[in-house]
This record gives sequence, structure tokens and C-alpha cells, in this order.
Amino acid sequence: MLSFEMSQKYKYWGISYNSLYDIISDFCNKKTEMKGSIQNIFKGKCPKCHKGQVFETNGNPILLKMPKMHTSCPNCHHHFEKEPGYFTGAMYVSYALSIAEVVALLIALSLVFPMNMDYLIIFVISLLLGLSSFNFRISRLIWMYLF
Ligand SMILES: [Zn+2]
Repeated sequence: MLSFEMSQKYKYWGISYNSLYDIISDFCNKKTEMKGSIQNIFKGKCPKCHKGQVFETNGNPILLKMPKMHTSCPNCHHHFEKEPGYFTGAMYVSYALSIAEVVALLIALSLVFPMNMDYLIIFVISLLLGLSSFNFRISRLIWMYLF
């Protein structure tokens, strides 16, 4: 009887400890994985090997040069465009990113510089044009890391 209770208790504590430990370690691994993925997105690393660069050039919005992308990873030869039109979905990411930037900039600028809304909109549009190559790269990278 006692041994049965002991074994039940032990099993209970054993199982709960293991499952709790598993949950915590899974959570920590996923958190670390996600943190690593976000860092790799901003570094422009390949979604498969996390070593090769996705873009050849970063582009320059002042010189009207868009970022140039490798067709496959220089390190692991992972083909980035999985199917024709694969990066069409990155436009939605770019749209969401642009809206988030515009809203954040409009709120920040209207709080710091209380000026006419027309000037604010012109300033935000020029900043968005300046961020166009950054948005292009980040949206494609986010799309590749998601799908
Ligand atoms: Zn790679």
C-alpha cells in the first residue's frame, strides 16, 4: 500500500516534473529560436542555414537602386524563390510594415513637432521612400522565414 502510494506519488512528481521541465525547455528553445530568427532577419541571413547572405546588395533609395537578391544561398544553395510568384506575398508584409512605420512616425512626429499635417505627411512620405529598400529586404526575409 505504502509502496503503491510512494510509487504513485513518485510517478506523479516524476511526470509533472518532466512535463513541466519539458514545457519550460520547449518554451526557452522556441524563445531562443525566435530571437535568433529575428536577428537573422535583420542580418539578412538564409532562412535554412542561417549563414549565407540573401541579398547581394542592400540597394540605395537615393540612387534609385533596389536591393539585389541571390537566386540561391551562397552557403547551402537553398533556392530562395520556391515557386513562381513566391514573393508576391512579401508585398503584404511590406504593406503592413509601411503602415506600422507611417503610424509610428506620424504619432511620434505629431507629439514632438506640433506642425501642420501637410508637412507631416510630406515628411513621412519622404521617410517611407528612404526606407523603401529596407522594407523591400525585410519584407522578403520575413516572408521567407514565415513560409
Ligand atoms: Zn543557406
